[in-house]
Amino acid sequence: MADIKLENVIKRYGDVVAVKDFNLEIHDKEFVVFLGPSGCGKTTTLRLIAGLETPEEGDIFIDGQRVNDLSPADRDIAFVFQFYALYPHLNVYDNIAFPLKAVKVEKSEIETQVKRVAEILQISDMLNRKPSVLSGGEMQRVALGRAMVRQPKVYLLDEPMANLDAKIRVDTRAEIKRLQHEIGATTIFVTHDQVEAMSLADRIAVIHLGVLQQIGTPHEIYNRPQSLFVAGFMGMPTMNLLDAELTSQNGASVLRLSHTDVYLQISPEQQAPITSRGQEDGWVFGIRPEHITAANQPSERQIPAQVHLIEPLGAVNILDIRLGTHSQTQDPILLRVRTHPTFRAAVGDTVWLGFDEKEMHLFDQKTEQAVW
Ligand code: ATP
Repeated sequence: MADIKLENVIKRYGDVVAVKDFNLEIHDKEFVVFLGPSGCGKTTTLRLIAGLETPEEGDIFIDGQRVNDLSPADRDIAFVFQFYALYPHLNVYDNIAFPLKAVKVEKSEIETQVKRVAEILQISDMLNRKPSVLSGGEMQRVALGRAMVRQPKVYLLDEPMANLDAKIRVDTRAEIKRLQHEIGATTIFVTHDQVEAMSLADRIAVIHLGVLQQIGTPHEIYNRPQSLFVAGFMGMPTMNLLDAELTSQNGASVLRLSHTDVYLQISPEQQAPITSRGQEDGWVFGIRPEHITAANQPSERQIPAQVHLIEPLGAVNILDIRLGTHSQTQDPILLRVRTHPTFRAAVGDTVWLGFDEKEMHLFDQKTEQAVW
């Protein structure tokens, strides 16, 4: 098994910088998910690790060995693509056996390995079938089987479930997670689906415009986003992000949500990094919909505001609350709040909002980096 290190890796296609000064360390046996929107450089980074692309600058190490000049075949990596590309004329057994036959492994050893893998993937009863009579989920498992049979140092999985329907996707996700724990191989999994990323990863690497934005456990990425991009990308619905300025009220420093009457008390610890930067505005305040409470009755320090829209989603309600209007466009400034489905309110009603102070975030608008 193996650890992987990327040092200052850059990859350009003409004018497009697909991977920008990438630094990343993946530990032995770790399951890392590359997550980001389409075109952010996930696949290119994976292909660089596999040796299917060459970096313009920087170094790639596998198990401490610099592999920039090693061919893909010499890197001991198994790659599973979005399109499973099975050989249609070969049955499942021969598809899985193919990589072992290619390197002339003994017949009895091939049989042992194929049966072992088929058992783990629960496809033992399909070994004689051709791919044309398999479902999408079964074909995906065969493609995984073909990668697993080699027992490589590293698995690289590029959106391997993109073609599966929702139910099979969830089942296969659980299977991949179980398998990775069982085999203990270092794995990098590419997806643009944040639920998939949260459920699979030991750590998630969030990528945007070729830049690694943050790497951390799912908990860290969700609860401690280090940039505006990560904050706005994770979560359904996403974090409320509202312009804010530092001002004073009754002699105390408070954070005002711009163009609204919402003034938030902040602690001295929260105020210190704002004051030290010497700017009153140019801040973006963030809070997740689940970290705001809504009540039908007023209570101390709760903020009154009007309900603009209600989305009953079954397990939860999402309320859009109107806080004010943008002075120039007159567009409403809305805050999304998640409530229990039994919470009753109608459009136009006043509700009283409470913000969980421990879960408030602040970002510098210019650098887009987190302040707290
Ligand atoms: P997706 O989720 O859509 O697969 P991605 O995050 O994997 O996207 P990449 O495929 O790595 O993104 O592409 C990163 C950038 O590099 C994109 O702007 C893409 O258009 C560009 N790019 C990728 N491969 C090539 C190529 N062979 N030639 C030119 N440009 C490329």
